[in-house]
Amino acid sequence: MNEHFDVLIIGGGLAGASFACSLSGSGLSVAMVEAVPFGAAGQPSYDERTTALAWGTRRLFEDLGLWRGLTAEAAPIRRLHVSQRGRFGVTRVDCADYGVEALGYVVPNRVLGRVLSERLTELDDVTMIAPARFDALERDAEGVTVTVRGGDDAPRTLRARLLVGADGARSAVRDALGVEAEVRDYGQRAVVTTVTPGYDHTDTAYERFLPDGPLALLPRTPETCAVVWALPEAEATRVTELTDDDFLAELQAAFGHRLGELRAPGERLTYPLKRLVAATTVTARAALVGSAGHHLHPAAAQGFNLAMRDVAVLARELRHAAAAGIDPGDADVLTVWREARAADQRRVSDFTDRIVRLFSNRVPGLGAARSLGLVGLELLPAVKDDMARRSMGLAAAGTLSAGQGAGSSK
Ligand SMILES: Cc1cc2nc3c(=O)[nH]c(=O)nc-3n(C[C@H](O)[C@H](O)[C@H](O)COP(=O)(O)OP(=O)(O)OC[C@H]3O[C@@H](n4cnc5c(N)ncnc54)[C@H](O)[C@@H]3O)c2cc1C
Repeated sequence: MNEHFDVLIIGGGLAGASFACSLSGSGLSVAMVEAVPFGAAGQPSYDERTTALAWGTRRLFEDLGLWRGLTAEAAPIRRLHVSQRGRFGVTRVDCADYGVEALGYVVPNRVLGRVLSERLTELDDVTMIAPARFDALERDAEGVTVTVRGGDDAPRTLRARLLVGADGARSAVRDALGVEAEVRDYGQRAVVTTVTPGYDHTDTAYERFLPDGPLALLPRTPETCAVVWALPEAEATRVTELTDDDFLAELQAAFGHRLGELRAPGERLTYPLKRLVAATTVTARAALVGSAGHHLHPAAAQGFNLAMRDVAVLARELRHAAAAGIDPGDADVLTVWREARAADQRRVSDFTDRIVRLFSNRVPGLGAARSLGLVGLELLPAVKDDMARRSMGLAAAGTLSAGQGAGSSK
């Protein structure tokens, strides 16, 4: 017999789990299918990375009642320091100029995963189905029938009025829905680790644009920094395999001595860097959120922040629909969401892509960008305010405000 839900979410990573939490209390029955058991060390969304949460994302987590669980491990970013090798001058952004206590917060993904998972286990209107993989779907006028396969590979059939694909950049849901995606492979990988700087980081996030790709050192704890270093694929592999001392020497040469001597590197992990834009985030009785719809280079630390705004607005629209007795898979409801989010999605995705291509000499397509005359840190002050507002997640403040976001009734 089919199990029936109002909303079925495939993927319990950062976007899917946040969305499930956002829907709780809406009156809708929700199920979330996740391929990896909750709490498992191999959960790909909740791994050793850190995520820089924008100020606006903090407000959304506050609305969900989840921020309290994150504060102990959230390192504030009070200042942003942007520089480019081979060019004089730096651009600085200070939270005080924007009247907020921090531009954003750096939180370990594992902590985000723990807080989201703990909340999900408390909710009686969200059914968690894990481990189980999405396998196939069929749509009709009234809903979507989805087959998932559990750890024993046995098929299980689920039925929902709305299907939400939150299964990441290589979304099987997106493929099964027949939605095309435009992919730009930057030919880079991010090398992610931690270091202990010789000087106090003073809650400053450093972003240094190098010919090979951007290098960020973010406050991680009072003593340590998270490193996100984008490099051409072969270089990323090479530096990952260096001894700690050789790695530190190369990192120091790339970053400079602003933070003194860099010491005690943590484990090094690498991630492929791509931009992906789905042709649409809405089709009949289905929506795509998170990396399934938009996947970004981490240079501007916007991927999850954008996803969180998408999730908050979708949850808000579905709450309104539920309160009015409207089907959550109603085409008009989904169209309102898609149109409400399109401009922010396009701006953030294009802005991130522009930054990566303008400041990385070895990224394909740079020639065209250069011919527009846009290269040069000296031009950054012109976009500084825009950049700061985007970093804080305030650029979309017109569509979201505290209390208006997801789960505000909790
Ligand atoms: C190095 C790096 C640094 C980053 N830093 C930042 C940052 O500072 N700030 C920021 O905002 N963003 C950052 N991002 C982006 C952020 O990590 C992504 O936006 C975020 O992970 C997207 O979450 P998601 O849930 O959409 O996808 P994912 O994290 O990919 O999660 C997808 C989930 O779906 C599950 N799944 C997959 N297939 C199936 C299936 N068939 N059936 C069931 N479940 C399935 C997976 O197990 C996983 O749990 C960074 C990304 C990288 C690579």
